[in-house]
Amino acid sequence: MSDAVKELREKLFYEKKNGLLKADEATLDSMQKYCEGYKAYLDAAKTEREAVATAIDLAEKKGFVPFVIGKQYNAGDKVYFNNRGKTVAFAVIGKELSDKGINITAAHVDSPRLDLKPNPLYEELELALFKTHYYGGIKKYQWTALPLALHGVFAKKDGSIVEVNIGEDDADPKFVINDLLPHLAREQNKRTLSEGIRGEELNVLIGSMPFKSDEGSELVKLNILKILNEKYGVTEEDFLSAELELVPAAKACDIGFDRSLIGAYGQDDRVCAYPALTAILEVEAPEKTAIAILTDKEEIGSMGNTGLQSDFLPHVVHDICVMQGCDETVALRNSKCLSADVNAGTDPTFQDVMERRNASFLNYGVVVTKYTGGGGKGSTSDASAEYVAEVRAMLDKAGIIWQTGELGKVDAGGGGTVAMYVANLGVDVIDLGVPVLSMHAPYETTSKLDVYMCYRAMYEFMK
Ligand code: MN
Ligand code: MN
Repeated sequence: MSDAVKELREKLFYEKKNGLLKADEATLDSMQKYCEGYKAYLDAAKTEREAVATAIDLAEKKGFVPFVIGKQYNAGDKVYFNNRGKTVAFAVIGKELSDKGINITAAHVDSPRLDLKPNPLYEELELALFKTHYYGGIKKYQWTALPLALHGVFAKKDGSIVEVNIGEDDADPKFVINDLLPHLAREQNKRTLSEGIRGEELNVLIGSMPFKSDEGSELVKLNILKILNEKYGVTEEDFLSAELELVPAAKACDIGFDRSLIGAYGQDDRVCAYPALTAILEVEAPEKTAIAILTDKEEIGSMGNTGLQSDFLPHVVHDICVMQGCDETVALRNSKCLSADVNAGTDPTFQDVMERRNASFLNYGVVVTKYTGGGGKGSTSDASAEYVAEVRAMLDKAGIIWQTGELGKVDAGGGGTVAMYVANLGVDVIDLGVPVLSMHAPYETTSKLDVYMCYRAMYEFMK
């Protein structure tokens, strides 16, 4: 190639390159260190409640305090708003008034899982089981024949809360959904993949030892209730006001001989929630007020009073603006947001659902997604060219490794994030997150470089 052609190519082509070939040694060291903290967070925060509680613990150690209405806060003050223990917003007050705009990062801390039904417990063939109701978009067959842990709470009539977390300790018992043996699966094998295991077949085995007695029925169930009563002080009726979630019992770990990847449950979207959280914990007296919101219910449409379709975020902005004596609608209009959620990384085995020129790849850095949605850009916020330009400039100036990516081929399917709900408030929003393999599976894969670059982007945006 002549020098002239080479020069012209370098000037005009948008060249993509593996981020691990771009990153220097210091960056790779920081990345490894950062991901140790990330794995610990994943293990401590398998449900939305645990993710919020763990985040608040970390934040309080960095000086964040609960926001109190009527109290005055100044530039650099660090506050948080806890919404029912399931959604939390952290804020660092800026030097400018909030009507000049707020820099918001928004990630979600709920993940696909199996919830217990209100009447879950039953005995059949002298085995005790739980009925479940799956939460979010799962491939149901993936949840059989793997060890499960039970997390959540019983809320009792006297107002007390009993926390449950069983199956995470090596010494803990675990739970399992059994599948049909292949020898007798001739009929099951004719089902479609989505029907391979049906919702009402996601029944969890929880015990088999009968209460020692010669009389009465359901002695296995009775024995289970006796154990639960001794351990948690609950009766069968207390399941009516419980939120108990079954999640994979496996711990986060490195994947690959070279330890370049992370495998864990619930990386969608803790792989962006942890970067948003750790970034705001490092923010000191920014020009603009910074908010990092970790939200619930994204996986079922952001509904309910802990989802991002609720007024929680505008109320947080309202409270800060009232405290500063400025206008919240002006604040929202001038605000910017990174909707921090995952994208589908291109899997070598399933490349045909991707359009290579616009797909994201592991180790190519944090992925910027102008729009999500499905078909003809249905159900999405489409970030403006002007805002994309701003974000490009910010990432390049800070030397952050990044890429763009659509969620698969145009007609292959689709998906959404909280971006459109934040955009509805008049805020400029773009999706920025980490590419994931096996998204929504009980065990998801990400690359450490992408996780670290997500953190760096979140910090750069809010600092
Ligand atoms: Mn997500
Ligand atoms: Mn998801």
